[in-house]
Amino acid sequence: MRTVVVGGVATGMSAAARLRRLDEAAEIIVLEKGPYVSYANCGLPYYVGGEIENDSALLVQTPEKLRAALNLDVRTGHEVVGVDPEAKTVMVHSGDGEDVLHYDNLILAPGAVALRPDLPGFDSEQVWHMRTVPDALEIRRRVVDGSVKQAVVLGAGFIGLEAAEALGHQGVKTTIVELAPHVLPPTEPEVAARVTSELHRLGLETVTGVAAASIEPSGDAVDVVLADGRRLPADLVILSIGVRPATTVFEAAGLETERGALVVDVHGRTNLSGIWAGGDAVASPDPLTGALRPVPLAGPANRAGRLIADDIARGAGTTRVQARQFVAPLGTAVVRVGKLTAAMTGANRRALDASGIDYHTVYTHPNDHAAYFPGATQIHMVVHFSKADGTLLGAQAVGENGVEKRIDVLATAMRGGLKVDDLIDLDLSYSPPYGSAKDPVNMIGYYGQNVMDGVTRLWYASEIPEVLETSLVLDVRSVSEFASGHLEGALNIPHTELRARLDEVREAAGGRPVRVHCQSGVRSFLAERILVQERFDDVRNLSGGMLTIRDAIAGGVIPEVEIIK
Ligand SMILES: Cc1cc2nc3c(=O)[nH]c(=O)nc-3n(C[C@H](O)[C@H](O)[C@H](O)COP(=O)(O)OP(=O)(O)OC[C@H]3O[C@@H](n4cnc5c(N)ncnc54)[C@H](O)[C@@H]3O)c2cc1C
Repeated sequence: MRTVVVGGVATGMSAAARLRRLDEAAEIIVLEKGPYVSYANCGLPYYVGGEIENDSALLVQTPEKLRAALNLDVRTGHEVVGVDPEAKTVMVHSGDGEDVLHYDNLILAPGAVALRPDLPGFDSEQVWHMRTVPDALEIRRRVVDGSVKQAVVLGAGFIGLEAAEALGHQGVKTTIVELAPHVLPPTEPEVAARVTSELHRLGLETVTGVAAASIEPSGDAVDVVLADGRRLPADLVILSIGVRPATTVFEAAGLETERGALVVDVHGRTNLSGIWAGGDAVASPDPLTGALRPVPLAGPANRAGRLIADDIARGAGTTRVQARQFVAPLGTAVVRVGKLTAAMTGANRRALDASGIDYHTVYTHPNDHAAYFPGATQIHMVVHFSKADGTLLGAQAVGENGVEKRIDVLATAMRGGLKVDDLIDLDLSYSPPYGSAKDPVNMIGYYGQNVMDGVTRLWYASEIPEVLETSLVLDVRSVSEFASGHLEGALNIPHTELRARLDEVREAAGGRPVRVHCQSGVRSFLAERILVQERFDDVRNLSGGMLTIRDAIAGGVIPEVEIIK
């Protein structure tokens, strides 16, 4: 039996290696159009930035090593240009000309191609993607030889920010341009605001909410001309505005696609017999809505390769391996930006609002480890769960330490279908340098249970303009914290004094609702509980406190709110 694999990186090479481990007799041919296989595309920005010093580190495997270890026939410089599903053949273009290769099983793992808009000047010599090893080699060569003094990165997604930081690290004056209202568009504006300020601290400039309209020559360099007329001079432009599945050849062969991505079943089987597909080229169902869309991430791509190999080996009767199914990826992702880490899993507010699901959101700002142990830093977290039953729907976090650990735990909880209050029961490792006996994830559980049980009722920073009109804002921070900035008209009574000063609250409220807040939401929860038990009948606690108010302002969620000093 001959299995032909198209694409020799994440999905393709995972599939080929797994298949060999399951079936020593299989003939496995991997066709890769580029010069390398199994390379570390996720490491490319760090090579450009110089943190990964040698390009050899990017080349995880070579055809020779793969032949020796796994008896794989790996052919680089071989591009599949056609498929005949009836004859079970692929047409291959290589330096030796055209060839036709028979297959019994065909695995399509061609990944994605970077988008390049059809706009004036986008084909200039200064415009590069950061997708492949040759891209990274050329970008670093130009940066290191001093011919790049200033650069523009178009697109502030995860890879765009990594590319921008890498250029900044090499001393290149870099501006990031993003069409969406904020950088890292999939993150909540409050999370993105912290990332933006870190980018600025690194000396990178950001321009958001505007598109690049054209690229015009300017001496040896170019000007990136924005839709609002601004011109950004650049010796190098990195295009990082997204990808599309590399499926043109396969669509033409009759493979079913949805918005350009190959449609597969839970085993990676396509609509055509004997053909499987996985990775960036494939559509996955959105866990919330079921809508099919590609999820271009390395984890799901590698898993897909393994599961496809399992299915093929099972079909061939060469293994008793259990049938596992593709599970819709949550889109768990992480990025380092300077001192910060930002990470996310599952749905964001925008997706939840569009889906019509009723949900609660909690904002927290816990320390990454016990506050009494030196070096504690805050993690800023946003977690969404269903109002109906507490099912976890999405989470994001940003901070200096311990961010990805919490998001990975939450991603695991979501995969297991846990409800928010199940987080209380997670038995997480703890000692003071690493965490707290009540880990930030456990605390989300406590908080979520209080929300679900109605022990706390929340209000949100986005409601401030309306709240200032209709309610008494009770700020229960200390007098000095209040003096450092507060909402207009807020009454300041530190939470420790509240029991003795209830009459003041009653008088100031004059029958209006009371909206309590503190710095992060903890002290105001205590105040809320006091007021509720003292029979104030409409009291709510601001989720995330003043820290979230400031993030919301910085993120443009509530542009009109002034913090009075
Ligand atoms: C710079 C960069 C940084 C990234 N960082 C991260 C990260 O930190 N975390 C993360 O989760 N993901 C990251 N990703 C995404 C991740 O690399 C991809 O999701 C993953 O590699 C997809 O695997 P794949 O096998 O589908 O495609 P790829 O790994 O892209 O492999 C596809 C291969 O198929 C070849 N090919 C295409 N068409 C043909 C054809 N017709 N014939 C022969 N060969 C063909 C291509 O040349 C390519 O080598 C990053 C990607 C890039 C580019």
